[in-house]
This record gives sequence, C-alpha cells and structure tokens, in this order.
Amino acid sequence: MISRIDLRGSALSADGGIDRDLLPRAELDVEAALEKVRPICEDVRHRGTAALVEYAQRFDGVTLERVRVPREALADALEQLDPDVRAALEESVRRARIVHREQRRSDSTVNVVPGGTVTERWVPVERVGLYVPGGRAVYPSSVVMNVVPAQEAGVGSLAVTSPPQPESGGLPHPTILAACELLGVDEVYAAGGAQAVAMFAYGTDECRPAQLVTGPGNIYVAAAKRLLKGRIGIDSEAGPTEIAVLADSTADPAHVAADLVSQAEHDTVAAAVLVTPSVELAEAVEGELKEQVARARHRERISEALAGRQSGIVLVDSLEDGLAVVNAYAAEHLEIQTQDAADWAARVRNAGAVFVGPYAPVSLGDYCAGSNHVLPTGGCACHSSGLSVQSFLRGIHVVDYTRDALAEVTHHVVALAEAEDLPAHGTALKARFEWKVPQSK
Ligand code: NAD
Repeated sequence: MISRIDLRGSALSADGGIDRDLLPRAELDVEAALEKVRPICEDVRHRGTAALVEYAQRFDGVTLERVRVPREALADALEQLDPDVRAALEESVRRARIVHREQRRSDSTVNVVPGGTVTERWVPVERVGLYVPGGRAVYPSSVVMNVVPAQEAGVGSLAVTSPPQPESGGLPHPTILAACELLGVDEVYAAGGAQAVAMFAYGTDECRPAQLVTGPGNIYVAAAKRLLKGRIGIDSEAGPTEIAVLADSTADPAHVAADLVSQAEHDTVAAAVLVTPSVELAEAVEGELKEQVARARHRERISEALAGRQSGIVLVDSLEDGLAVVNAYAAEHLEIQTQDAADWAARVRNAGAVFVGPYAPVSLGDYCAGSNHVLPTGGCACHSSGLSVQSFLRGIHVVDYTRDALAEVTHHVVALAEAEDLPAHGTALKARFEWKVPQSK
C-alpha cells in the first residue's frame, strides 16, 4: 500500500530549498520514450496513413483502412448518447465557456512617446490538433477541455484525434465522438499515441498539418510532443495525473482518501501524495485507503498507483513545512484541506490548479468546475500553465513610429548598435535622416 516519507526534523524552507529527490515522484523516463517514439514519428512522416494504419493494428489491436472518422459516425454517436451523459457534457461545456470566455484578450496600444506606438495584437493559431486520450480510460471530458478554449480563442480550423477502440469497430470511443459533434467539431481522427502527434505535425493525405498540438496523454504522447516541439507548438507536457493534498487534523480522512483514490484510478503510474503534519490524519487516511481501494472498481490499477514510488504520505513538522513541500513538488492538482484553507491556498506558488477546502475535490475540476483539466505534470507546474485561451493565441507586436519619434531616439539606437558591433543597425536609422531626408527636426 501507500508508503510513508518522514520529513519531520528536516530543515525545510518555504523558499524552495528542498531536495526534490526526497519527494515521491514517478520515475517516468520521457527521454527513454523519445528513442521509442522517434522511429514511429519518422515513419508517419514518410508513409503517412499507411503507417498510422499499421500502428493502430500494433498498439490498439484494430484494423483500419482510413483514419478519418466519417461525419455520419459523429452524428450517430450523439444521437445514441445516454441523455444523462449528454446533459452532463452540456453542463461541463457551459461552465467551461463561462471561465474561458473571460480569458479572451483584447488588442492594446501603448503610446511609448508622442508619435511612437506599440500595439499588441492577439491572433489565434490557424490550425490546431487536439489530442484526446483513450488507452486505459477514455476521456470525453478532454474533448471539452481542449475544444472550448480553442473555440473561444477563435481558432479557425481544429481537428481532434483519439485512439481507435476495438469495441467501437476501430473508431474512437462513441462518447468522444458524441462530444465532438456536440461541440461542432467535424474533423476527427482515429489515431492515438506518438503517431497521432506525428500525423498533426507532418500531415498525411487525410489530415493537413497543424501548427499547434495540445492535450493530455501517456508517456508516448508526451515524448512525441517533446520530440516534435519546434516543428509544432505544444501546450505543456500534460502526462500521467498527479494529486497532492495538503491537509491538517481538521480534514476528513474519508474525503482525503477518496480524492487520492480518484486520481490513482487514471493510471498505474498516476501519483497520489498526502502532505500533513498530523500523524493521526495519516493513520486514518491509510485505514480509509485500505477500505476504499478494496471496494473500487479499478482496484488493481489503483493499488499499483498508490504503491508506486510516485505516491506517498509525507509527514512534516508543520503546515508551514507542508507548504514548502507542496511548492517544491509543483503538483498538477493540489488540494488544500486545512483550517483557513483559502489563506494557505493564496500562498501556493507552484501547482497546475489549486482546489480549496472540503467542497472542491479534484474530480469537480476534472469535469464540471469550469476550470481546465489539461494541466502540467512532472513538476512542470513551476514553469508552465494549464490549457487556456492564451495557449491558442499569439501576441504580435505592431510597431508604428512617426519620423519625428524615430529621429528623437536615433542616437540611442546608434549607441547600442555600436556597443554590439552591429553598426549597420545604426546606419539603417541614420540613412533616413542624413542621406535621404537631411532635415529632421
Ligand atoms: P493515451 O491515449 O494517452 O495513449 C494510448 C496510446 O498509447 C495508444 O493508442 C498507443 O498508440 C500508444 N501506446 C500504448 N502502448 C505503447 C507502446 N508500448 N509503444 C508506443 N505506443 C504505445 O491513453 P492512456 O494510456 O490511457 O493515457 C492517458 C494519460 O493521460 C493517463 O496517464 C492520464 O493520467 C493522463 N491525463 C492527464 C491529464 C493532464 O492534464 N495531465 C488529463 C487527463 C488524462
């Protein structure tokens, strides 16, 4: 079962002076996976659809002729969708739209000097490829989390891909197809893993290349995103799920355990971490985990995730030390289940998303909080953000100076250009005044 890591008595500092090796984390070797996905991506680059069909057979156990999902299959899937699931998806979309619409950015113009302006224009990426996982579990919720911010950003062309399922005759899971139809996405592909990322990067006879690929996935998806970054833009490496809970003795052990189990359910390499100064809470959570895991539908997968090196209960001397630990850990999801939870949450610096108090479990954020569930993992939350409208926009600076405004600053540009030994830079300005138009002002 879950292991204990006792950091009591260690000198922890809130400014991040913690040896990260002391903390539980998956030994996921994306670098090693790179070697595995490199030939797959090259193959897709050269053989296109034929390679995708071959990998669908090898990794997903399905025989395909084409990879693009026919439009009728999308409409059929929505028609046959369970009405309760449809209502839940609609609510998830409604809430996500409320939050993501607020993230839209307007162009802004700054008057730097009289006659000199810099405008920042926000322009959506033209075409994006959205990855929706579908290996161990299928994620129609990830359709919502990818598509809504892309649409709110104004992306003109978006395509979804998800692994083909043997039970669905080689199509992605029907709920994923239904979610696409619900959101008005009619370009959907039955491809998973690294080969799907390569399809978007290089294009095939069926699929035009995309400029940006977003969405969560397993280690092969993360490795392909890392490999092809540069040719395509990516969001973050949103890999196997993580939950960290910072809790004190006021937390309900049944709730804490249920939330740890809920994320362990994703994957055998999912991480579930409790950080607490309360030995009583730690013991009670251990007891709850035993009972709750035994009752869980996916108990084998959950047990493996909880027993892994990436999961654990970290004992600390105080909540202050606990805060230092969770800041150093930089979890994808961080729950704060303490007294004055909002105050502690306000001091969190590194996390993909923070869930405050007893009534904001991570599962709410997975589906229906309105927040995005595509979040950075593996410690990347210390430098990256979750998926948002911003992920699909580029800011373009538009520089507009009058003759007088340029004349006024020319001597500074010339001085800096000389300091960098790039005199032609200065000449480019002087030419406008001394050689072409002798009079400035
Ligand atoms: P997936 O769609 O990411 O991967 C399935 C694909 O992996 C298959 O189609 C296959 O092509 C490929 N594959 C499988 N074995 C392979 C092998 N040996 N070599 C090469 N390719 C292989 O689905 P999954 O596996 O269920 O993983 C989904 C992951 O997404 C989970 O770890 C889950 O925790 C994570 N997730 C993360 C977030 C986030 O925001 N960070 C959100 C949702 C889900």
